[in-house]
Amino acid sequence: MSAADLLIEARDRILDPAHWLRGQYHDDSKDRFCAVGSIRESGQHFKAADYNKAIEMLYKAALEVGVCTEKHSSPICVNDHLGHEATMTMFDRSIRLAKEAEEGIA
Ligand SMILES: [Zn+2]
Repeated sequence: MSAADLLIEARDRILDPAHWLRGQYHDDSKDRFCAVGSIRESGQHFKAADYNKAIEMLYKAALEVGVCTEKHSSPICVNDHLGHEATMTMFDRSIRLAKEAEEGIA
């Protein structure tokens, strides 16, 4: 279990756009999550260190994915303003960053 594993689990939870949403961490039934909400959900059964690392990597990845028209870039902005495809790109990049960090490359 690692930060990369957490990010993979969180991404897979919202891989299907039907299980993804904007503007809130999750819906009442926890059937749909945003990027950060999904990481928080996975964080409940991962170590705090893995959760913190996962969030750090997601923020780094968000910077690389791009900025919205309001010229800011954060995981919530990518999720809410740039959409599902950009959110998946952000997750894929964050997973790569986490794996690189775990292997001592970064
Ligand atoms: Zn924005």
